[in-house]
Amino acid sequence: MGRTDYLDKLNDKQREAAMNTEGPLLILAGAGSGKTSTMTCRIAYLIREMGVHPYNILAVTFTNKAAKEMRERVQDLIGEGVNMWLLTFHSACLRILRHHAELLNYGRDFAVYDPTDQKAVVKAICKDLGIDTKKFSPNYFLGEISHCKEQRISPKNYCREYGFDYKAEMIQQVYEKYDETLRKNNAMDFDDLLLKTVELFEKDEEVLLRYQNRFRYIMVDEYQDTNLIQYTFVKMLADAHDEYGNPRRNICVVGDDDQCIYQWRGADIRNILEFEKDFPGATVVKLEQNYRSTANILAAAHSVIEHNRDRKNKKLWTDAEDGNKITYFRADDEREEAGYIASEINRIGGDYRNFAILYRTNAQSRTFEEALSKREIPYRVLGGLRYYDRKEIKDIMCYMRLVQNRADDLALVRIINEPKRGIGGKTIEKLQDRAAERGQSLFDVLLDKDTISQLSSKAEAGIKALAGIIESYGAEKDNMKLSDLYDGLLVNSGYLKALEDQNTIEAQSRIENLMEFKSVIYDYEKEDPNMGLAEFMERIALLADVDNHDSDENAVVLMTLHSAKGLEFPYVFMPGMEDGLFPGWRAFDRPDGLEEERRLCYVGITRAKERLWMTSAEMRTIYGRMDYTRESTFLHELDSRLIEGHGIYEKMPKQTAGAFNDGASAEKPFKPFDQLKYAQQQTKKKAAAMEQAAKENFQPGDRVLHEKFGEGTVLEAQGKVIRVQFADDTKKLALGFANIKKL
Ligand code: ATP
Ligand code: MG
Repeated sequence: MGRTDYLDKLNDKQREAAMNTEGPLLILAGAGSGKTSTMTCRIAYLIREMGVHPYNILAVTFTNKAAKEMRERVQDLIGEGVNMWLLTFHSACLRILRHHAELLNYGRDFAVYDPTDQKAVVKAICKDLGIDTKKFSPNYFLGEISHCKEQRISPKNYCREYGFDYKAEMIQQVYEKYDETLRKNNAMDFDDLLLKTVELFEKDEEVLLRYQNRFRYIMVDEYQDTNLIQYTFVKMLADAHDEYGNPRRNICVVGDDDQCIYQWRGADIRNILEFEKDFPGATVVKLEQNYRSTANILAAAHSVIEHNRDRKNKKLWTDAEDGNKITYFRADDEREEAGYIASEINRIGGDYRNFAILYRTNAQSRTFEEALSKREIPYRVLGGLRYYDRKEIKDIMCYMRLVQNRADDLALVRIINEPKRGIGGKTIEKLQDRAAERGQSLFDVLLDKDTISQLSSKAEAGIKALAGIIESYGAEKDNMKLSDLYDGLLVNSGYLKALEDQNTIEAQSRIENLMEFKSVIYDYEKEDPNMGLAEFMERIALLADVDNHDSDENAVVLMTLHSAKGLEFPYVFMPGMEDGLFPGWRAFDRPDGLEEERRLCYVGITRAKERLWMTSAEMRTIYGRMDYTRESTFLHELDSRLIEGHGIYEKMPKQTAGAFNDGASAEKPFKPFDQLKYAQQQTKKKAAAMEQAAKENFQPGDRVLHEKFGEGTVLEAQGKVIRVQFADDTKKLALGFANIKKL
């Protein structure tokens, strides 16, 4: 490559930005306009043409993947390895702190605590303070603490910020102790990396000066998603002066206010909108040509984002061809939706890497995984695990495996302390040794009173409860519908409750996945209402086993819309275009929730280079419940001239729209049905109903209705066991595990 070939490839505006090296610079432009490309060229220009030493450049971005891609692009441009700070926020701060930790009274070799370590710390604190972690989970406290650190609220100021009620006081106490502990252990958590760096800069002018002098050129990609602390970090470094005392402020930020999608995690869109106020005299470059997408895709993206009121007006153009229209397909149900997408991929053909399926929630991945495996299309789930590899799914399957076969020691070890029952690694080892000595299964040892009574009283109670559940469901499994068994296990094992108590985004997503498992079960029940647990487990095991792991090379990519930021693909599918799913029902609870979802939709559409498909399902089983759906608000906002296909604007009459449309009217804003909450409630209700049946007084002669066997007459009732005559058979049923009602 000739010396400045790479500059020739830029358009005038981009080149202007790349060569504008002194003073504050804001590149505020829409998706695919070459912001990231311009920034990488600017780095190359600084090094090659301006003779800037890479040592003097700091470029930060959000994810490791983005940092890696940028480093590769810069290396391509300057044709050699570069040893410069092109890093994520966290790794840049870590490097700084390693040099100066002692100024903050940390040892240089301080530890960085990951979430597991953090949790262990909070757990110990709760124990000390006598806080019931069943009521307030460690993750709950950690979420609060993280939020505080992002907003720079110190432990002692917590209550001043959030009021002096009982809960706030408790959080303050935990936060204070947490801070003390980490300090005592010479450790920092991830949020500390940013926070402590800023504190270091504030405390020690000399250090700050040193980095200001070093980083003469600062660049930030995806600036619209910075939070307060990241913003402060960047601003402090950039507010510098040159050797003559003149302000230098060589900061270049790049972003798109239309792509701010992390407000729910503290991102502050004002950081980019107020850049010119923060850095007076800033040069603002607006890039207006989109190079990524066809004209139709670009126009479609605009027609959606235009509906956001709170935005700077900007419009991209392209000289690309119109290209295909957006293809819309309204499937009958989610299986057909997934089948359609898989068959489109096969029809188009070529490199599988060209295809991306971008969904709103992780729980949606399952149907696509199944449809793709069925057609032997390789895929990989980016930024997340394959559905059946997820922890919560594996855990609950282990419960089911044990119910099916209680000699399954592996499954037992996995869930014996999941949820927490006070059974640590040592205890498990002891129990395993005992089992080995006696040639018994681990479960048999759990039933042994003498062994169990030697454990702590908490562990003893936990084991008794667990063994009881496995035994009873084991005995009753053939008398129960699979879905009843599943709901009962989730509730009675305490697994669901433990997640609910955590009250974090992660726990919420686990609950979504567990509720989605009900859809799997209902599917099989539909196929064969009497499917037994054994057969079900076999079928699932086969599905889960389909080996996709070594298909890294050439595979369709599946990921959430959030993790697709900054990436691009020739062919993009956006499934699940339905109100309640996308926009998600949570969006309707917050004032700017819908606007943030709309930005996410804009991000999704603008990932596509050549073709874009949007799909929805007329009926969707989500979290085990089948419902009519309503086409997404965003589909209706999208310019109808740009979209073609099946079922567009097929407005359903209200009566058939099921629970979705209840109470919806022209005056009242539409509020989608909270499917997840409903599924959780149903699960708990069903478990409670089975418990309730155990309290009923059944008498011989009573007419009853059983979920699986239908109507029958009680022949005999003894304690918790009843014998019932059904149409073809008599059955012995254990109350508490039978979904049975008196008629
Ligand atoms: P996003 O907002 O999604 O992060 P972006 O503004 O960072 O997008 P880039 O990823 O830098 O955009 O560029 C989008 C695509 O356009 C890339 O494939 C890039 O190679 C191409 N591109 C950028 N500038 C030009 C140009 N001047 N000529 C041709 N192609 C270009
Ligand atoms: Mg970019």
